[in-house]
Amino acid sequence: MEVSFDKEVRSLRLGAGATFHGEGILAITKALLQSGVAYVGGYQGAPVSHLLDVLVQARDYLAELGVHVEACSNEASAAAMLGASIHYPVRGAVTWKSIVGTNVAADALSNLASPGVRGGALIIVGEDYGEGASVIQERTYAYALKSSLLMLDPRPEAGHMVRMVEEAFALSEASSMPAILQLRIRACHVRGSFACKDNVAPAISERHAMEAPAAFDYSRLSHPPVTFVHEKVKVEERIPAARRAIVERGLNEVFAGRRDDVGLIVQGGLYNSVVGALARLGLCDAFGEGELPILALNVTYPLVPEQLRDFCLGKRAVLVIEEGHPAYIEQDLQATLRRLDVQTAVHGKDMLPMAGEYSVDVLALGLADFVARRAPELDIAAGRQWLADLARNRAAVKEFLAAPLPPRPPQFCIGCPERPTFAAVKLAQRRIGAVHVAADIGCHSFATFEPFSIGHSILGYGMSLASRAGVSPMMKRRVLAVMGDGGFWHNGLLTGVESALFNGDDAVLLIFKNGYTSATGTQEIISTPDEAIKAATADKTQSLVAHNQVIERTLEGLGVKWIRRVDSYKVDKMRRTLEEAFTTDFDGLKVVIAEGECQLERQRRVKPWRAARLKARKRVVKVKYGVDEDTCSGDHSCIRLSGCPTLSVKASGDPLRVDPVATVLDGCVGCGLCGENAHAATLCPSFYRGEAIVNARWIERVAQKVRRAVIGLLQPA
Ligand code: SF4
Ligand code: SF4
Repeated sequence: MEVSFDKEVRSLRLGAGATFHGEGILAITKALLQSGVAYVGGYQGAPVSHLLDVLVQARDYLAELGVHVEACSNEASAAAMLGASIHYPVRGAVTWKSIVGTNVAADALSNLASPGVRGGALIIVGEDYGEGASVIQERTYAYALKSSLLMLDPRPEAGHMVRMVEEAFALSEASSMPAILQLRIRACHVRGSFACKDNVAPAISERHAMEAPAAFDYSRLSHPPVTFVHEKVKVEERIPAARRAIVERGLNEVFAGRRDDVGLIVQGGLYNSVVGALARLGLCDAFGEGELPILALNVTYPLVPEQLRDFCLGKRAVLVIEEGHPAYIEQDLQATLRRLDVQTAVHGKDMLPMAGEYSVDVLALGLADFVARRAPELDIAAGRQWLADLARNRAAVKEFLAAPLPPRPPQFCIGCPERPTFAAVKLAQRRIGAVHVAADIGCHSFATFEPFSIGHSILGYGMSLASRAGVSPMMKRRVLAVMGDGGFWHNGLLTGVESALFNGDDAVLLIFKNGYTSATGTQEIISTPDEAIKAATADKTQSLVAHNQVIERTLEGLGVKWIRRVDSYKVDKMRRTLEEAFTTDFDGLKVVIAEGECQLERQRRVKPWRAARLKARKRVVKVKYGVDEDTCSGDHSCIRLSGCPTLSVKASGDPLRVDPVATVLDGCVGCGLCGENAHAATLCPSFYRGEAIVNARWIERVAQKVRRAVIGLLQPA
């Protein structure tokens, strides 16, 4: 990838005596090295992409420590990597985005959790939940419950999160249970500082390899009949050991309050928001000192019954603050207290929303309800006023914004190679009729928004081809599956291509070969253009994805007989190719590879290259498209086919023309789609291509002067 994490990599080298400043996710990364981790891996995805990105770029430093880093092909391969800790006393950590990544990793996680681990095994999941999330809204907690995995949900403060990483490894080793460290979006991005410790080079590592493998031990295989024993060991030994360690190591925190007859039990990760809400209600200061005692669960699974009992004893009521659905912690607490004959009333989802993010205002509403019912003598009048003002302001803003502003969904970057291909899909359907489109995860899913509105279903990352298997046989017209190269390598090759070939399916697969897993932050994959090619290519504006043919070779090797490669920006050729795929007599899998490098990566490469050339007074050409407003008919077909944010409208300036005309704004990167669409869809001839040349050659200057002179002669005086 073209983004550099030099600064972040330097901060990983800090040792005892230094202070780390930065984002939560980078603090966690540093904590891994302080914990003596021997291997790290994962699959990128917000909000934890940075962890792996930084470690991959820190490879040289990690090699000095002996830490192995692996950019895994998907979350299942990352989870399987933790198998190293089953036999060997080595600490390992992997990361991914949850819930989707945990779903992919589920098989390996079950097989890891069954025999358990000797060395600490840590899974850092980005809990992509709430406003700003980009995945299905489910809780990772269910996996901890069903597979007996430790679940940590640390209070979002840098130093505390670092301690919790170190404690997670210790807890994993004390209980033989792999641990999940859950990080919400806000925890990943919270900024703070902590006193560093020296990084620890692992005793067993790349630099200090083992002489021999572990002795054969059947009990360490997840294989019946020993799996029946594992289940008992989990319940009878591991979970009790984890509970003892949670108490002995003081992992959960009690923050005292002035009251002792009521209290709050909160997930550690929500602590800051809860304090924010209490402060708004006038129940604590900015540091959390106030009326209500809080039990902050930094370890949310397993819960410790005695700890819950001790907190609840003597209290009339507690409020469980647990984000998301189902209410696992609340249900567990209810059962625990009843079993221990503690009669404290338990509130939770009866006062707080069952689903959705617990932002400060949502929490304040629930807390106000709790106080009104269980501690009505507390004065929260100021807080109620704040909530009322907030509601009034929101209603006013909603009313103000409702009419004039259209929704602004996310969309392709300016110049994205996927936009022209969807224009071609749209045009092809005009000729052959509508087709069922199995969409996928990736940037191409932006095509589900206007102006394309293409896609009938999304079943998971790399799943599009597999997801049309039930639809194809019932459709008169062939079904189109859309997949990115990231999805192809993540899952699509096996779940989709192999299955379609094996079953002799008649389908069309459109693969976006843009060279990176762009939607997760443009990480590299096996089909990324080589660094050597990037370095050797004199004109950095070129698309370089054609140099890497590993997707094509893989498909051919697997037996795909019908493959077409088309430049993404050639709209008419792409339209014709798609039409051919939909109508050919060839019965079998047809693959169209749309070849066009991710424009985001390309621009990251082009901008410094251009800047360097300008500095050296070398020739630089910038292509830009424009619209001749006298020719523009004002029907805006070009905009409906493109959706490029830099293709916009403006007033015509002509009092006789009421409709606005199309115009190209400054951000245009000159991808050429405007011209291609005009040609492929036979639109009006109003688009022109311009070249702005800086440090032009003498011949170009002369030619320009001649052109100006001729045009001047032709212009009326
Ligand atoms: S990141 Fe790349 S592939 Fe994704 S929308 Fe932007 S240009 Fe297109
Ligand atoms: S040529 Fe057209 S589609 Fe391409 S960046 Fe410019 S305005 Fe956007």
